[in-house]
This record gives sequence, structure tokens and C-alpha cells, in this order.
Amino acid sequence: MTDHQSTLLAGVPDNLFIAGSWRPSGSGATFDVHDPATGEVLASIADATPEDGAAALDAAVDAAADWAATPARERADILRRTFDTLTARREDFALLMTLEMGKPLAEARGEVTYGGEFLRWFSEEATRIQGRYGPNPEGTGRMIVSQHPVGPCLLITPWNFPLAMATRKIAPALAAGNTVVVKPAALTPLTTLLLTKVLEEAGVPAGVVNVITTTASGAVTGPIIDDPRLRKLSFTGSTPVGRRLLAQAANGVLRTSMELGGNAPFVVFDDADLDKAVAGALAAKFRNIGQACTAANRFIVHRSVADEFSRSITEKVHGFVVGRGTEPDVTIGPLIDDNAVAKAEQLVSDAVGRGATLTTGGERLDRPGTFYAPTVLTDVRPGSEILREEIFGPVLAIAAFDTEDEAVALANDTEYGLVSYVYTENLQRGQRMIDRLATGMMGLNVGVVSNAAAPFGGWKMSGLGREGGAEGIHEYLQTKYTLTENPFA
Ligand code: NAP
Repeated sequence: MTDHQSTLLAGVPDNLFIAGSWRPSGSGATFDVHDPATGEVLASIADATPEDGAAALDAAVDAAADWAATPARERADILRRTFDTLTARREDFALLMTLEMGKPLAEARGEVTYGGEFLRWFSEEATRIQGRYGPNPEGTGRMIVSQHPVGPCLLITPWNFPLAMATRKIAPALAAGNTVVVKPAALTPLTTLLLTKVLEEAGVPAGVVNVITTTASGAVTGPIIDDPRLRKLSFTGSTPVGRRLLAQAANGVLRTSMELGGNAPFVVFDDADLDKAVAGALAAKFRNIGQACTAANRFIVHRSVADEFSRSITEKVHGFVVGRGTEPDVTIGPLIDDNAVAKAEQLVSDAVGRGATLTTGGERLDRPGTFYAPTVLTDVRPGSEILREEIFGPVLAIAAFDTEDEAVALANDTEYGLVSYVYTENLQRGQRMIDRLATGMMGLNVGVVSNAAAPFGGWKMSGLGREGGAEGIHEYLQTKYTLTENPFA
């Protein structure tokens, strides 16, 4: 580790943040956070107990009324100051994410921009929470529709985008006037801890943001979810965990937002601009080392262009530089842990066993850390596990189709429905795909769709609710309708 990296890590809080103060776990326990590129311990941080979780919820409940009554402009200014500091400290946040999660520095810088935008966007949205006023159809009264904070929120985030998944929840929750308890993933909690410090410096009042880091996620969050004072659960992570949390949230009839897994189809028609499709495919597949919910999982390519597409992709993937994300020119970092490597190995071996052709990669790299070679598989056969499962690794799997109907059937043949990608130069066909593909988002001749100003979210088992856009703040508001008399009656 360099001196610069050690200095950065020394400035990251290692305690829980509850009721405006940094404190150790009630049990005194800590856990280690590792660099997946080297296995090195980066920091030891507080391991919260269920009692710490309860204290965090108490703090959020105590601060709720004052924060809800804080003028929207003040709430907005705090978010805006957080955005400004985050932007000024772009290099620190980028390096921290690369260290704890492994993504290449250039991508980590991109996440600072993307994650920061949620702070800026929702600082703007905070002042535009509006209602309605008007006569009822009978003319006997006046109808008032107003928006109110939903109440204390529990925000649970995954490891793959340590900054953006936190700001995408914290910013709209605070903008709408809610207090929060945040639980980052145990694999990558450091970015959230540094973000919390920046929020604190930006003037977030005590109790409005509380952060608990823990290795016992279920045991710590379970009692919070069961507490009737909690009113909202927002979760980003895998579908199996999301499903379990939804069942738990049903007891308290909680408002929920669920950003879950994906299995994105990437459809290339014979009328596509192939250079554009190849560039989009590389971005949609290999960004974040393939560990994105929006990662293209299944490449469905018209048979007449499949060979050319595969050749061109394979050539480009050969040129990738694998290494520690902090090294210059690296395009592919390590996977998050050994389980992720084992999953890539298993899916590739299943696909090859069923007749797929490996054109590059296909193995764990013989070096410290959890590296898997960027891989391309062609002629992937129906029934292969890789077409069903979320790969979450740098493996690009190509299957061929003959007709538009077949492409649609293949693309929709999944329980997930987060995002799809379509490449065609035929405008009518592109428009048909908007209607025919069952996903909450679509990239039409575009390989990356995420934007703070857009409603991010999935259909089917990919989740409930939307993050970002005009829709994002409504996830954290509840509607009240009031009827009053006709003042002229
Ligand atoms: P995960 O295992 O479901 O974990 C997500 C979060 O839930 C982590 O903070 C985890 O904490 C926590 N958690 C796990 N079990 C829990 C339980 N029983 N009770 C309460 N919390 C629990 O998912 P992941 O591996 O971190 O993330 C990858 C998944 O997230 C992929 O499926 C990906 O598609 C999805 N994702 C979706 C989106 C989207 O917007 N749709 C965005 C990014 C990622 P610990 O890990 O500390 O236990």
C-alpha cells in the first residue's frame, strides 16, 4: 500500500454513526475490509449488534419531526454542499472505491460523477415537491392533495456500486424530509462511511443519517424492519434476499423499493451498425468487471452477423488489460471474492459442456487476488445455465437467432426484467422492441442507460419502484387527500 493510500484510509471513519456521533459497536467487535486485488486488509471497522441497530432507529425516529419541518431549501442546500465536497474530493472517493471494490480507477471516477448526480438532482427536486388544489366534480367542496415524508427509512445497499447505490437512496430520502438508517454491504462499507463524514460536514443534523456496518446483516436489520416506527425499506441487492425482505416488510405493511437482480438481453439485429453494437456490448458487459445489475447477460445476435460480431468482440477483449484497478491502463479488475470466481468458472464450464465455443479467457488467473480472465463464449446452447443466471462477472455469452419473433422470445425468456439493449438501424423495429421487450429500461443503440434524471428500475423479479428522475422522490413521499368545504356555499 502506498503512503497516499494509507493516508486516505486513515481519514475514513471506522465507527458507527448514530445520533450525530461516531461510536464503536456496543460489543466492541470489529471486522476487516479487504482489497480484492491483493487480499490485503484495508481497515477494521465497527461490527454493529442488534442493539446498535435499535439505537440507530431510535435516533432516526427522534430526529424525524424536526427534519420533516426543516424548510426544503435548507435540506436542498445540505445535499448540494455534499455534492460540492464529493466533487472536490473526487480522487479520494474514486481511490477508496477502487481499493475496497476493485473497479479500475477510471470507472471509479465515473461512479463519483454518477453517484454525485443523485445529490445534485435531489437537492433540486427537494424544492419542487408539489400538491394540487381544486373543486370536486360535484362543486360541493375543495380537494387538496398534499405530499408528506413517508417516515423513518432503512436503506440497504450492495457492494458493486458503493457510492452510487448509497446516494441514490440517501439523497431522495433526505430531500423528501425523511431520516434514515443506512446499512452498506460488509464487503465495501468504507465509501459509505466517508460519504457520511461529508454529509456530517455539510450540516446534516444529528439523527437524520445513521450508519450501521455489520457482518450480521439479517440479525441487525430484522428487528428494525419489525419495528412499527420504521415506515420504509429501500433495498438494492439480489432477488433472493429482496424477496425475503419483502416478506418481512409485509408484517408492518412497509413502503418498499426493491432494486434487484437482472439478466439483461443484448439483441443485435442484422440491420445494426456492428461497430456501434460492439462498442455498446463491451460497455454493457465489462463495465464494473461485469458486476452490474444492468450488465448485459445474454447476447442474442442475428445468425448472419454472429460470426463477425463474435470475431470483433473477441479481438477487443484480447486487448483488455487485467490488473489492480489502481494501475494505469487497467480495464478489468478483480472480482469481488472467491465465490464470484467460482460462479464464473461453473457457468463457463456448464456452457462449454453443453457445446459452446470458448474464443478467449475461460479461467481464473494465476495471481494473488480474485481475478477471472475476460471471457467470450459463442454458440451458447439453449438450456445453458449462463442464459438463466445472473453471471456477475466478465463473461460474454453469445447465442444466435433467425427471426425477430425468435429474438423477442429469447430476450423475454427470463424471470428478470431490469434492462434490455437493442441494436438496429431500423426505426420501426426499434419502436416495436420498446413495446415487445419486458424490461423497465432499454438502451436503443446505447450500451449504458443509467442517469440520475431517469427512473431506474425493473419489471418482474427485478424489483419494485424507481430510483432517480421525477419518480425517485415519490418513493419517499406519501400522499394525503383532504376534502374541505366549498368556501362559497
Ligand atoms: P445481496 O447479497 O443481496 O446483498 C445486498 C445487501 O443486502 C448487502 O448490504 C447485504 O449485506 C444485505 N443483506 C444480505 N442478506 C441480508 C438479510 N438477510 N437481511 C438484511 N440484509 C441483508 O447482494 P449483493 O451481492 O451485495 O449485490 C449483488 C446483487 O445486487 C446482484 O443481484 C445485482 O443485480 C443486484 N443489484 C441490483 C441493482 C438494481 O438497481 N437493480 C443495483 C446493483 C446491484 P451483507 O453483504 O453485508 O450481508
